[in-house]
Amino acid sequence: MSSKPQARSAEERREALKAVLAQARVCTRCPELAATRKSVVFGAGNADAELMFVGEAPGASEDEQGLPFVGRAGKLLAQLLEGIGLDRDAVFIANTLKCRPPGNRDPQPVEIENCRSYLLSQVELIEPSIICSLGNFSTKLLRGDPTGITRLHGRPEVIELGARAVRLYPIYHPAAALYTPRMLETLREDFARLPDLLAMGPPDQPSAEPVPEAEAEPPAVAAPVPGDAEAQEQAEADQLGLF
Ligand code: URA
Repeated sequence: MSSKPQARSAEERREALKAVLAQARVCTRCPELAATRKSVVFGAGNADAELMFVGEAPGASEDEQGLPFVGRAGKLLAQLLEGIGLDRDAVFIANTLKCRPPGNRDPQPVEIENCRSYLLSQVELIEPSIICSLGNFSTKLLRGDPTGITRLHGRPEVIELGARAVRLYPIYHPAAALYTPRMLETLREDFARLPDLLAMGPPDQPSAEPVPEAEAEPPAVAAPVPGDAEAQEQAEADQLGLF
């Protein structure tokens, strides 16, 4: 009999995250996005972050640079972070979709479903205490419920994602707040509550039932890519400074 799976070190989790990155970079689950993207915008920041942000999808600037939230919405996100004494390198920033929808159209349900496992692997490996969902798409996906951001913003709740409990904190998407002063004010107010939420630490974790060894599931993360390809992808993650 074995009990809980062994906790993995931050370095082991980061290495596993690189293997998921390697898979995402050659992903063709969404043929239109794979054909039109310049890059797969996997996410960036601290791979051991307490706080993770999940936006909608890369835009033109993100697609060009291969990094999330580097356009106007990203500048606002960086300002908001600065306002609570955090640098964007201290958090992890990802998106619901890893590829840019052409013309910045909305993500389609099938695309969200196709990309879901990458996001769940990111959450599983980064082990954040808090996930801030930015706007409707990530909030609906992570809650598994169609309730919109207007009703949910600023209300933290504990949800279970995979084997872990996490504090979900939905807030408005910075892009939506850019041109709407009242929404920007609300976003600032909601953001100001983040330090208190962070101070609460992680929520209680579900107690793992002891599982007989033969029945224990392997971890739901990507298998390492063998040989040269693995080495190349890992070097690229380091060169790009993704995490
Ligand atoms: N909007 C998003 O949702 N994600 C980005 O990376 C940039 C803008």
